[in-house]
Amino acid sequence: HFGFQDGLSETEKTERVAGVFHSVAESYDRMNDLMSFGVHRIWKDHFVTSLNPGLSSATPPTPQRILDIAGGTGDIAFRMLHHAHVLNHNPNVHVTISDINASMLAVGKSRSQSLPASQQAALSFLKADATSLPPQIPSASIDLYTVAFGIRNFANIPLALREAHRVLKPGGVFACLEFSKVNNFVLDAAYKRWSFGAIPLIGQLVAGDRDSYQYLVESIERFPSQERFRRMIEDAGFVVGGRGYEDLTGGVAAIHKGMKP
Ligand code: SAM
Repeated sequence: HFGFQDGLSETEKTERVAGVFHSVAESYDRMNDLMSFGVHRIWKDHFVTSLNPGLSSATPPTPQRILDIAGGTGDIAFRMLHHAHVLNHNPNVHVTISDINASMLAVGKSRSQSLPASQQAALSFLKADATSLPPQIPSASIDLYTVAFGIRNFANIPLALREAHRVLKPGGVFACLEFSKVNNFVLDAAYKRWSFGAIPLIGQLVAGDRDSYQYLVESIERFPSQERFRRMIEDAGFVVGGRGYEDLTGGVAAIHKGMKP
């Protein structure tokens, strides 16, 4: 059952992924909680805290342009706005939520209506493919590029990394939160049972859509290891410090960061 994307062209892969997220958009937020026992919220909080968006000692605080790629229903973007505007008192931080899928963006837009007006004013939405970003995002214009649980779905990951490098300013940061490889064999066995056994079933029962959730589980299995992904980031031209990644929950997820020199 690893055949979901085998032998498909990049265009066909992109269309297949579009179909999956179109059908899961409405149930996406509830399903995330069910599938991860709510842990995805802790990972997302930690990811955003570790990036500390909006930090500035200047008066007025330094403006920052953040691009949240595959931003979907807004989980990362909303957290970054809150962190920058409320915790770091920096209203000059602007976040663009970009996603290839209009259905996911529509859910994000309606959720954003419950944000404070000042945060809504600092938020914009852009429908775009991460492997070929449009002129609305000029080269060297972005301070922070984030992608959470998105990159494994891209038809051409090296190309998306080169696009990230192109749109970032020198000194800008690439940050990725993604499912990764579990580094403990007991946990790995439990995790595989859960993901291959329960997740498609929950998808079927709760969202009425087994195939989309089967795809999501398989895409996690196919994604490169922490070390291999780190090298892909370096190959795209980023400088990676230290180990280059941080494992979360024993490697169920990992955070990778790189800087454009
Ligand atoms: N970042 C959000 C979060 O953490 O909740 C959403 C993650 S969701 C699992 C993955 C998103 O990737 C979907 O909204 C999907 O439409 C988007 N996506 C898939 N392929 C894409 C591409 N080539 N370019 C941009 N977004 C893409």
